[in-house]
Amino acid sequence: MKPEKQRAFRAQWVLPVSSPPLRDGVVVIEGGRILKVGAWRQLRSRDTEDLGDAIILPGLINAHCHLDYTGMRGLIPPPSDFSQWIRRINELKLTLTTSDTLAAVQAGLGESLQTGTTTVLNIESVPEILTCLPKPSSRVWWFLEALDIRHPPPPEFWSWIGEPVGRRVGVSPHAPYTASLELYRRAARLSASAGLPFTTHVAETLEEFEMFTLRRGALHDFLKGLGRSGKDLDGTPPFSRLALTGALPQGAILAHMNWLAESDWEILARDPSSYSVAHCPRCHAYFDRPPFAWERFRRLGINVCLGTDSLASNASLDMFAEMRELLRAHPEVSPAEALRMATLAGARAMGQQGLLGELRPGAHADLVVKPLPADTTEPEAAVIADERPPERIMVEGKFVA
Ligand SMILES: [Zn+2]
Repeated sequence: MKPEKQRAFRAQWVLPVSSPPLRDGVVVIEGGRILKVGAWRQLRSRDTEDLGDAIILPGLINAHCHLDYTGMRGLIPPPSDFSQWIRRINELKLTLTTSDTLAAVQAGLGESLQTGTTTVLNIESVPEILTCLPKPSSRVWWFLEALDIRHPPPPEFWSWIGEPVGRRVGVSPHAPYTASLELYRRAARLSASAGLPFTTHVAETLEEFEMFTLRRGALHDFLKGLGRSGKDLDGTPPFSRLALTGALPQGAILAHMNWLAESDWEILARDPSSYSVAHCPRCHAYFDRPPFAWERFRRLGINVCLGTDSLASNASLDMFAEMRELLRAHPEVSPAEALRMATLAGARAMGQQGLLGELRPGAHADLVVKPLPADTTEPEAAVIADERPPERIMVEGKFVA
């Protein structure tokens, strides 16, 4: 086999993320992988493409989104309560055909890539689209969503996960208030036996917390109206309910985790490496939620990654905007930490350490090139603050945008 040609890219700054920033750095790639990352004075070579006043960083990882709802941007004003928002999104979902969803997913993939996201963890509620969706330029894990509040998922749901038509798939019971513990356990067993990634929404809202702990509130009443008996509500908070009943496999990615009891924190503290948490900063702001407990997760050593959630509760799929909102809401978070949450943490959540979310030899050559002012001294802060879009995007060694 012919050896792959090496290519090298030089820029004012290179941000490997897993090692310190390099001023006047170079990334050398061979085929779809990174071969070397270092300073220009050490890796100087004649064939290098000089990108000038630019910064090279790893492609970002969106750890929680629903591209199905990309067409809902701006359609739901911030609601007074979460149940009202669910009512509204359910009404909008009823108007969507499968081809609308296909178009929404394609638009969402395009927007994600153009804003520097090369890996997407997407929750997919219409798996039929996977048979006709052209292969995306970015890396996508399709977490097939299941709920059984009204009917069990169709039998073919489980075979979709078993025979993923050439896609990367995972499984996602929707949330403890729409998916039974039986459904969760079946999904968790499948995740463990087949090595499939698993994600779910947990402890997102006060209404959810009240429903499980006090058997009351707007969500409780709304779901009762849909026929949920509520007989299973025994006062256990939502996260504990799942964690204590075999409903969460090792490595589960827990979206939100906004309302936790002290007993929940005790469970997390006993086994912090079992979970990742996906935090969605602008969705958090849209619902005007109390501050996310970032510092407490960090102290426990829990892996916290970032996501956009859907455009039914966000204005764009831009992960740089998520990092800006995180830094606005949490001045105690450093720009370097925010960048790790948007790259390395997502890779760790997916068991892809060393392969995605960082620039190091052996990792996939997924790169983002952004413009940067010539006098930049703090590259992480500057690249997050700069609202100009990326100039170029590379996935697996190929420029795709
Ligand atoms: Zn979500």
